[in-house]
Amino acid sequence: MATVTVLEGVQDRVATAPAAARIAGLDGVVKQYGGTRALDGLSLTLRRGEILALLGPNGAGKSTAIRCLLGLIAPTSGSVRVFGQDPRDPAARVRIGAMLQVARIPEVMTVREHIDLFRSYYPHPLPEAEIVRIAQLEGIANKQFGTLSGGQKQRVLFGLALAGDPDLIFLDEPTVGMDIEARRGLWVQIRSLAARGKTVLLTTHYLEEADALAHRIVVINKGKIVSEGTPAEIKSHATGAHGRRIRCHTAMSDEALWEMPTVTDVARQGSVVTVTAVDAEVVLRRMFAADATLSNLEVTSPLLEDAFLELTSTN
Ligand code: ADP
Repeated sequence: MATVTVLEGVQDRVATAPAAARIAGLDGVVKQYGGTRALDGLSLTLRRGEILALLGPNGAGKSTAIRCLLGLIAPTSGSVRVFGQDPRDPAARVRIGAMLQVARIPEVMTVREHIDLFRSYYPHPLPEAEIVRIAQLEGIANKQFGTLSGGQKQRVLFGLALAGDPDLIFLDEPTVGMDIEARRGLWVQIRSLAARGKTVLLTTHYLEEADALAHRIVVINKGKIVSEGTPAEIKSHATGAHGRRIRCHTAMSDEALWEMPTVTDVARQGSVVTVTAVDAEVVLRRMFAADATLSNLEVTSPLLEDAFLELTSTN
């Protein structure tokens, strides 16, 4: 259960999220692989300075959408634009950085050699020291890539994705294999990229990561959007009919609780009552007024995970 305080944090962040110009997107994109329709009329907008999380179960079409935006595959129909151009146009490609799961780089080269090589591909690369700092590669820059741990390799791939100082960055499962401390360290860097006007498209299996990082989440299933909004909106779309949960000890009867406005469920386990209500504040005010003995109060919001499962299992 996410607490109310967690939600407030999300809303603060959303309030400061930039409402900026579209820099890339898909319009009505269909991608057919033989008999499989991987994308089914998908439209997606990426705005300057935002972190967009693309969520969906395996096979939903996330990688296909990213591959279209990278110009690695052409859509069967529909349009793909990046910085106003075809994504295969070199002028668009030099402004894109990608950290993909399938990335393979030579094991025997050192981290520094990889960074220098990647920097050489771009007209205006980030300074090496800046890449080392942002990707937290201090201490491992002279090591051969093949000797690194899984989490360290992920950080190197993140650094390499930034080598060209891209304006649009694709991060496919960027924190896979990282411990929680390293993951949080990377979150800080991803947020600061967005704060500098960079656009980040993130896919992740860690819903907590999408919740913590994304200004906007797009949930897809079977190549179509099933929900789109801020993390808070996604949670309330999926569970809006049910609302927040109020758990407490109260002397009030079930009947009295059911009569409160916006209550959608009342459940009792021993002395603990769980009331679910769309407008939890109104219900709480009435409960305090009606019952001076009310105690052990806890108010929780639906988790993104609940919302996600609900959205993707019914489609
Ligand atoms: P996700 O990244 O969300 O797991 P994908 O975009 O990889 O989903 O896949 C979407 C659908 O397209 C799946 O049914 C997958 O099996 C199919 N698919 C993906 N790539 C290919 C391919 N190269 N050839 C045939 N089918 C593919």
